[in-house]
Amino acid sequence: MHILPQSREDECADDRGNVIAIDARAFAGNVARARTLMPRGAALYQVVKADGYGLGIECAMRLGLGAGVDGFCVGTIGEALRAKAAAPAHPILLFTACPPALLAGIACRGVIVTVNSVAAYEALDGLDAARFMFEFDCGFGRFGLDHPAFDSLLAREAQRAQPRCLGGYTHFGSRALQLFDEGLQRFDGFGAKLRAAFGDAQVLMAAASHGLVWRPRLPYSAAHPGSLLYGMLPVSAAPDFAPVLRGVTSPIIQINRIAEAQALSVGYGSGVMLPADGATGVFPLGWNDGLSTGPALGNVLVRGRRVPVIARTLFHSIVDLTGIDAPVIGDEVTVIGSQRGETIGLHEAADAMGIAATELHFRLAGAITGARFRPEL
Ligand SMILES: *Cc1c(COP(=O)(O)O)cnc(C)c1O
Repeated sequence: MHILPQSREDECADDRGNVIAIDARAFAGNVARARTLMPRGAALYQVVKADGYGLGIECAMRLGLGAGVDGFCVGTIGEALRAKAAAPAHPILLFTACPPALLAGIACRGVIVTVNSVAAYEALDGLDAARFMFEFDCGFGRFGLDHPAFDSLLAREAQRAQPRCLGGYTHFGSRALQLFDEGLQRFDGFGAKLRAAFGDAQVLMAAASHGLVWRPRLPYSAAHPGSLLYGMLPVSAAPDFAPVLRGVTSPIIQINRIAEAQALSVGYGSGVMLPADGATGVFPLGWNDGLSTGPALGNVLVRGRRVPVIARTLFHSIVDLTGIDAPVIGDEVTVIGSQRGETIGLHEAADAMGIAATELHFRLAGAITGARFRPEL
């Protein structure tokens, strides 16, 4: 018998009763919209690094498979193995993620690895079965090959009876706008050499989230967006893309009725006076789950009303339930999302706690998926 709750298809519940709700329709809509920003027939590789942008990699991939993406990009060897298990027939690309010595082991398992240095290439030397993509440095000095190193590796690979190279990519992030045109020119220089050596079927990828919205329909055979598909870009940058994290909720697990007015000062609250006939409630999300150590601790929704969080500990928060009509254990606390027409959006919650919206998304989603119920229990 299961002793822990089973998550519904569109939710992830942890073993404390916290739930993140995921909007599969929003994700599918975002994929469809992203395709309108790509040339016809180009492949869409969904980035599922950082444990599926905090949603859990299997969950993020289920969204992608449902929306018909063509491949997946991961950020660690562990993620590559999980992605391969979840979608064995889809291409799985491992971004630059580990020391070269670890590449051969994962390349043997059918994962496409990244060659971003001469050392990474040489780590694959004896492996005819390896498949890889080159990563190019298009002007950021971050990851990837410069032209002299690329030229030498291209020559070495061309000498093999069976070349193992599938294509090349680079990543332009949110701060790359000034360098974008110049960077694309550099990318085209790499791409032309690659195709001259190994043919037009080589996959070229330079459009991640920002590339798609800055320059729709860049003429490359694949795109590899992450944050855009999850609806995490600021609304001003991508107004038509909806957040996939629809809600974060937690149950009330204890209620304390206050008979006489009393001062409460626990955890990381600033100390409040609770009135006679007041009440407090405890829910099992704390600063270990990424919430602020405060103040300010923010507000949450209970029974459709906005109530203040008055204290927070390592793994609990305490809300002031004074004025809520007959609250009971099990009442739902909405940290992010809507309840009876009231809404606390991700941005509002993050502002109240003084952290960035993307940061709050990752912290909360990661805490809940990280402690997710295990079906075998
Ligand atoms: C994270 C990452 C992406 C996706 O990034 P977004 O800007 O969120 O679309 C693409 N390519 C590489 C190499 C990455 O590390």
